[in-house]
Amino acid sequence: RAADPVTGAAVKAADRAHVFHSWSAQGLIDPLAVAGADGSYFWDYDGTRYLDFTSGLVYTNIGYQHPKVVAAIQEQAGKLATFAPAFAVEPRSEAARLIAERTPGDLDKIFFTNGGAEAIENAIRMARLHTGRPKVLSAYRSYHGGTATAVNVTGDPRRWPSDNGTSGVVHFWAPFAYRSPFYSSSEAEEGERALRHLADTIAFEGPGTIAAIVLETIPGTAGIMVPPPGYLAGVRELCDRHGIVFVLDEVMTGFGRTGKWFAAEHFGVTPDLLTFAKGVNSGYVPLGGVAISAEIAATFENRPYPGGLTYSGHPLACAAAVATIRVMAEERVVEQAARIGETVLGPGLRELAERHPSVGEVRGTGVFWALDLVRDRATREPLVPYNASGEANAPMAAFAAECKARGLWPFVNMNRTHAVPPCNISEAEAEEGLAALDAALSVADRFTV
Ligand code: PLP
Repeated sequence: RAADPVTGAAVKAADRAHVFHSWSAQGLIDPLAVAGADGSYFWDYDGTRYLDFTSGLVYTNIGYQHPKVVAAIQEQAGKLATFAPAFAVEPRSEAARLIAERTPGDLDKIFFTNGGAEAIENAIRMARLHTGRPKVLSAYRSYHGGTATAVNVTGDPRRWPSDNGTSGVVHFWAPFAYRSPFYSSSEAEEGERALRHLADTIAFEGPGTIAAIVLETIPGTAGIMVPPPGYLAGVRELCDRHGIVFVLDEVMTGFGRTGKWFAAEHFGVTPDLLTFAKGVNSGYVPLGGVAISAEIAATFENRPYPGGLTYSGHPLACAAAVATIRVMAEERVVEQAARIGETVLGPGLRELAERHPSVGEVRGTGVFWALDLVRDRATREPLVPYNASGEANAPMAAFAAECKARGLWPFVNMNRTHAVPPCNISEAEAEEGLAALDAALSVADRFTV
């Protein structure tokens, strides 16, 4: 490509002049110009290569540029690049069939969206119309998307600037034994107290006013807190008792991330609505959706569903989903995620925790892991304060810079780093990532007491 006039500098200059970036102070960011990507790696225009321990935004579950998925998108573009949502078209029908085959229980109807936030918007609309009730309960320490309702059900600081105060959302505390909101001393006690707190919240809000409880099956961006055994089954039971729609958000956990097709399988729980996006087609073309139970689907059998999107079930996105799901089945990608978690990432991260005083806790499953970094293991004081920026965030910035210097692109959120590589990462690549984390944790250790 000697004649190629594109340079990293030109890409960067046009970006800085014209691209308005998400969640950022536009003058304070310095985006890397990316020249290419393959599998678990990407590289810049100078040829510096990074192992991607973020999977983009935790979505490239089969890695970058899988040849079969790229070919399927090209083939679909040649056949029928687009078609309106009111028609039955082959890639949409087939994607819905393959997804419904894998979602738990009777979640057999699929409403397609362009991403996760729109899936949450529509799940909540369905729950409100199905129950005729206004309110939604969701957890602190959660993320559900950046659009109006989705950001209001979110339980992290991204909600604050957009909280309209009239969203009908009530937040509660979900279990998190390491930083227990219930002062409990064991996982079992944490699960029991969290359920009692939720039952009390329902009682005092008024069960007849609550349309839905929305939970990430395993909270992702908020810190990968695997719920204690019995907690999600208990939420299911509370929903059944009070006629509340149970929405599990599997936008981040779905399609192999936790070592199962859906994280709900770990807990033997079937929600009434399940939202997905990201891993459904590894984000090669934007796609998300809601998997709908038979009972809720029946509500809209003879009554129109009042919601829709121009690109609902876009043929290119659906062709990418069909190819991705087939690749994941053929190449046993879900099993690989489980195995890498059990044999490499889990043991490797725990071994790092033994040697690095900055690691307070290791949590996760599959290719879905968090290191909770602390200033002091005894008090569990976070390495940086909640929602810190600037100087206060310097320890995490130094940790991230060292990762990058070692060729690892890290996922960093507040006082945590997450190890969330593609589900089909090799053992050698996972070991390479652990070695870089080892070096970067030595930098974090300098900020401990
Ligand atoms: N739900 C969860 C659990 C997520 O992690 C995300 C994104 O990170 C979303 C919803 C929002 O998805 P999107 O960014 O595709 O709108």
